[in-house]
Amino acid sequence: MTRLLRGIAPALAFLLFAPAVRADDPLPVETRAAVAALARKGSAQTRAVEWVRRLTDEVGPRLAGSPGDRAAVAWGQALLRELGLANVRAEEVPVKAWERGVETAEVVAPFRQRLVVAALGGSVPTPEGGVAAPIARMESLEALEEAVKADPDAVRGKIVFFGRRTVKDPAGPGYGKNVPMRSSGPAKAAPHGALAVIVRSVGTSTSRFAHTGSTNYEVGGPRIPAAAVSNTDADLLERLLAKGPVTVRLVLGCRPLPDTTSANVIGEVPGRERPDEVVVVSGHLDSWDLGTGAVDDGAGVAIAVEAARLVAELPRRPRRTIRVVLFANEESGLAGGKSYAERHVAELPKHAGAFEADSGTGAPQGFSWNAADTLEPALAAVAKLLEPLGAGALRKGGAGGADISPMLPSGVPLFGLRQDSATYFDVHHTADDTFDKIEPASLDRAAAAVAAMAYAVADLPEIHGRPAEAPAAKPR
Ligand SMILES: [Zn+2]
Repeated sequence: MTRLLRGIAPALAFLLFAPAVRADDPLPVETRAAVAALARKGSAQTRAVEWVRRLTDEVGPRLAGSPGDRAAVAWGQALLRELGLANVRAEEVPVKAWERGVETAEVVAPFRQRLVVAALGGSVPTPEGGVAAPIARMESLEALEEAVKADPDAVRGKIVFFGRRTVKDPAGPGYGKNVPMRSSGPAKAAPHGALAVIVRSVGTSTSRFAHTGSTNYEVGGPRIPAAAVSNTDADLLERLLAKGPVTVRLVLGCRPLPDTTSANVIGEVPGRERPDEVVVVSGHLDSWDLGTGAVDDGAGVAIAVEAARLVAELPRRPRRTIRVVLFANEESGLAGGKSYAERHVAELPKHAGAFEADSGTGAPQGFSWNAADTLEPALAAVAKLLEPLGAGALRKGGAGGADISPMLPSGVPLFGLRQDSATYFDVHHTADDTFDKIEPASLDRAAAAVAAMAYAVADLPEIHGRPAEAPAAKPR
């Protein structure tokens, strides 16, 4: 009797105390255990904050094609090797380089006032001595179009000032709405005889920092110098303009440099069963030159690296390979993301997913996802496990992130880490984007959330891609 009891006791105990395994669980039992273990890491300290500290302190600004960018490529490879990742390498990416120089602006009439400005990335310089001209304020690109339709000379011989304010919004649409004034305002104003463009910073700093960002000229079109002005000084311009004409002098010494190369930095945690199938976890390694690129995108680099490290630490690796990709040159033309999608095109059908973190240091909220509907039950099951981290919300659609978006037409499942971005655009692209802005607890939760979701996608029996789109007809 006692022998018999002893024999069946463990089985009884299992039946009584083991978590109920439901036959219809979309997560295999071992996948669920690993995902739960990774999710728990988010409430303890991870090493994510260490990676962003080292990147910002040891490398600093990383403008594509600059010496800082080259140092970052070396730094990234050294870190991935230090963490024991496999197949660590740098895949070369052609980039356009550009260098900032002197940048000053002042109101010269009706009163003298200094303005805080930052040249837009890619801008041509002003002539020596600068450009001094009356300001023509435009609320938007559409307003410019209307103005020159009504009067072809509306901006001729003037400095166009795009004045629309970027509204603070936790979800960030205020930013997206205003980016075109920065990215194509100079190209749109130049053909109408404008001498230069000043854009109210596309950002929400109230601390007199100018937010830079890239601008693009039309190929073969006229190129005029362009700068962002701090919100504080844009407000001053608005007050003066309300009383009458305002003349500003803008001096920019920036210049485009010859084309050069950068690299996507890659390292892997090889899959235990199908190492040729891949889940990408990513951020972008380049940054603007004014700050040290802590929130944009040192945070994303740290989240991606730490997610891979957390997975590598587990006793059971996922079925497929987790591939860290630290993308080159997101800021000025997405060269790294485009290059990855081209170079790996034959391998994309074997990409079970691609994740990107590029929304700063705010608390993780969940994921956007774009994959076959058949993936949804598994994602929902993982999301449930991420609720204690605040990262359980799923939103279908989107392209995951700028750097992974070139994989969209190939049908690769794309995932974007969604974060609270209430304060992101206060420091985004400014000299104030520095390590002290990093929120360590949020970064821990974000790294664990990405690790857990990426593990699940890498460990499921099947890939849940969308059908590849037919190649778009080339525009003539
Ligand atoms: Zn970014």
